[in-house]
Amino acid sequence: MGLVIPMRPTHCTSCGTALMESPITYEVIVNEELFQIEDVPALVCRDCGEQWIDDEVRENLEKLVAESAGPEPHVQ
Ligand SMILES: [Zn+2]
Repeated sequence: MGLVIPMRPTHCTSCGTALMESPITYEVIVNEELFQIEDVPALVCRDCGEQWIDDEVRENLEKLVAESAGPEPHVQ
């Protein structure tokens, strides 16, 4: 069996430091436009800065961004 990635890790997958619950600013670029969503609940590694967002939260973020970005890319 390969490595199983847990749904919600308690420790950083990169350095092994305990993860801390902390709100982050989620940044994503859609259609060459930068979207920033503040106060996103996430787990953050204090040592190397690795961030973990729950799948459920990530899905909501993607939905939010998709609605803001609109259905069609801006074409000129
Ligand atoms: Zn780390």
